[in-house]
Amino acid sequence: MERNVLFYCVKCEQLKTLEQAGVVFRTGYFRVLYPLGCCVNCGNATR
Ligand SMILES: [Zn+2]
Repeated sequence: MERNVLFYCVKCEQLKTLEQAGVVFRTGYFRVLYPLGCCVNCGNATR
């Protein structure tokens, strides 16, 4: 069940918890299990 709180940051290329998610994409999944997204740190870095 803990998998549900993880997402894959496409910038870090790491699994992170949804608490650290800046953006979570609805369109893609990593290994089917984890939603793709962008963590808060990467979101800040792109600006
Ligand atoms: Zn990241």
